[in-house]
Amino acid sequence: MKIGFIGLGIMGKPMVRNLLKAGHEVIVFDITKANVDEAVSSGAKAATSSKDVAEQCAFIITMLPNSPHVKTVVMGKDGVLEGAKPGTILIDMSSIAPLASQEIEKACQQKGVKMIDAPVSGGEPKAIDGTMSIMVGGDKAVYDQVYDVLMTMGGSAVYCGKIGAGNTTKLANQIIVAVNIAAVSEAFMLATKAGVDPKLVFDAIKGGLAGSTVMNAKVPMILDRNFKPGFKIDLHIKDLNNALETGHGVGAPLPLTAEVMEMLQTLHADGCGQDDHSALAKYYEKIVGN
Ligand code: NAD
Repeated sequence: MKIGFIGLGIMGKPMVRNLLKAGHEVIVFDITKANVDEAVSSGAKAATSSKDVAEQCAFIITMLPNSPHVKTVVMGKDGVLEGAKPGTILIDMSSIAPLASQEIEKACQQKGVKMIDAPVSGGEPKAIDGTMSIMVGGDKAVYDQVYDVLMTMGGSAVYCGKIGAGNTTKLANQIIVAVNIAAVSEAFMLATKAGVDPKLVFDAIKGGLAGSTVMNAKVPMILDRNFKPGFKIDLHIKDLNNALETGHGVGAPLPLTAEVMEMLQTLHADGCGQDDHSALAKYYEKIVGN
């Protein structure tokens, strides 16, 4: 298949490589030239704009930071909808606000473009391995049509409901990950302050009930003080902001989310926004004076 791909960041680049590996022709665009060059060196072909991608491809994937970026790329000047023919399928795999997915899908419908939201979990390692967890919202018939392409990038895909349901599911995922990293950081700070080697704490508890995917992925980074992203603090602030706004909209109180949001914003103000979200541990170092 000929597939258009827009957004070649930490996630987009390995996803493109997996599409190429599966034998697809991939036409790419990103506003960051170095990222386009890297994708081209993997075998993709460069387009000159999102509109150009849509003129060349009837099947397009977007992997962008947040709602405003997806709106610009799809609905803006030189965007996808300026170049797309009726019948084009757009899969937005970015993590954005569910209401934004609904708004963008409405604009797509007016041009005869079919859109689903299909955000992912698993981070860069699973994007590289092609084993991401994919959560999908939108027309079920479109989901069935694109399932095989999704599975060249993912280890699982679950249809969650109408447009925006994928992103609602992703917000639930992001709350759990953020609160889990905060809990791990708090617990390891306690152990360290009380004089127990945190490496031994990790070895002792990772196989028990407290063990988790988050603990296995993030504690080694915290112990090694390796905060290279990964998943940036600024992106997690974006997700929790979308979660809090969605919570307000549907009347769901999110006290733990609000608390971790404060911690992440403190770190952002300290200049750590581009660090991996495992740098939440630094919040505790800051308050205990390490
Ligand atoms: P990133 O910041 O590394 O990459 C985003 C890319 O989008 C950049 O290359 C940027 O130049 C490009 N871009 C921005 N505006 C653009 C525009 N108008 N036109 C074309 N390109 C544009 O982000 P990422 O880590 O790859 O994340 C992408 C999405 O995936 C986000 O929504 C994020 O929340 C989600 N996500 C990330 C991870 C992770 O571990 N990094 C995991 C799961 C989901």
